[in-house]
Amino acid sequence: MAKFQVNILGCGSATPTARHQPSCQVVDFRDKLFMIDCGEGAQLQFRRMGLKFSRLNHIFISHLHGDHLFGLPGLLSTMGLHEVSGSVTVHIFREGARLMKEWMDFFNRNSPFDIVYDVIEEGERRIVYEDGGLTVETFPLYHRTPCTGFIFREKPKLRHLRGDMVKFHSIPIASLQAIKEGADFVKDDGRVIPNAALTTAADPSVSYAYCSDTMMDSRVAADIRGVDTVYHEATYDDSMAQRARERGHSTAREAATIAREAGARRLIIGHFSKRYNSEEILLREASEVFPDVILANEGLRVDLE
Ligand SMILES: [Zn+2]
Repeated sequence: MAKFQVNILGCGSATPTARHQPSCQVVDFRDKLFMIDCGEGAQLQFRRMGLKFSRLNHIFISHLHGDHLFGLPGLLSTMGLHEVSGSVTVHIFREGARLMKEWMDFFNRNSPFDIVYDVIEEGERRIVYEDGGLTVETFPLYHRTPCTGFIFREKPKLRHLRGDMVKFHSIPIASLQAIKEGADFVKDDGRVIPNAALTTAADPSVSYAYCSDTMMDSRVAADIRGVDTVYHEATYDDSMAQRARERGHSTAREAATIAREAGARRLIIGHFSKRYNSEEILLREASEVFPDVILANEGLRVDLE
């Protein structure tokens, strides 16, 4: 099975603590790595989890609060010492690109790779990355400052050939790719063998949405509708709902409500306030609304297939 998983490098809010690092995740799609947010200490967790700098070429920053990007200058500097070549693209709001560029031009003049800045505009819905198997798109979140979420979508997969039918109709190898893509097969005598007789359905394509930081907002559920796995921030428990709203954050119950409204299969909650010595209360409150909730934790890998 092709690999599609998310690695949690940090899932605390605001400041590093003894329990949690600030926000950072790495999506591994068929051995290409995509970092989402880059809180302080991200590069250390990256190493602890055995991830490879040489496979990391895209970094997505949700918003310009320090706990989501203070790890970036250090990470990029280290990558400069690790034979990373080609380019690394940082997808980020305009002011973040300006600040990062200034910083990197000063500290990292001799970087062996180019840093490309892809400017995300506030409120934008756009495909910011695409390759043969995957797209990454932005959608707006609702925080105290412009903030964007990201959806990783696997492209439709190929249909499975039926070996018996391929043999029976003596289909040449050169025709197989088109049939996997859905084409019918035309025999030498002009007879058409429909694709449905030659193949079985493709495996479903899966998707992953990252929603941090944001207050609860139904527009988020609408934007991520039908996604398989959702990561949603759950900074607080029920008793802190008022504070969550004031700070542009969500409670665990609200995160679960968005996952339910979106019709998701699974929810990962994170961005935990440092006030909790255990996140069990958050898990409990979210689980009252949504059946399949996972507590994020540093070092956790979740298979998205
Ligand atoms: Zn924030």
